[in-house]
Amino acid sequence: MLSGNFFKRVRDRTLCKECGFCEEVVVCPSPNDCIGCGACYKGCPYEAIRMVEDSSPRRSVSIGSTALKLMFQRRQLSREP
Ligand code: SF4
Ligand code: SF4
Repeated sequence: MLSGNFFKRVRDRTLCKECGFCEEVVVCPSPNDCIGCGACYKGCPYEAIRMVEDSSPRRSVSIGSTALKLMFQRRQLSREP
């Protein structure tokens, strides 16, 4: 299990105007399981969305090749030189 600096969105209902922009205009790549891309955060015209650190542990899978090593974490991809 690995953990790292991953983020997820939190909507502040006291600031949200229910305009629907973050759901109807922004194309979320993972509506049911936020991957922290930040698209809705940047798109909200009322600054009602915050990105907060998600420190929950994630499983990892490493895949090696002769050229590079890829390490996958749940819902995230990183590359080691
Ligand atoms: S874009 Fe912002 S204000 Fe509009 S529904 Fe989403 S969170 Fe609420
Ligand atoms: S747009 Fe990105 S940050 Fe917003 S909920 Fe979807 S995955 Fe999470």
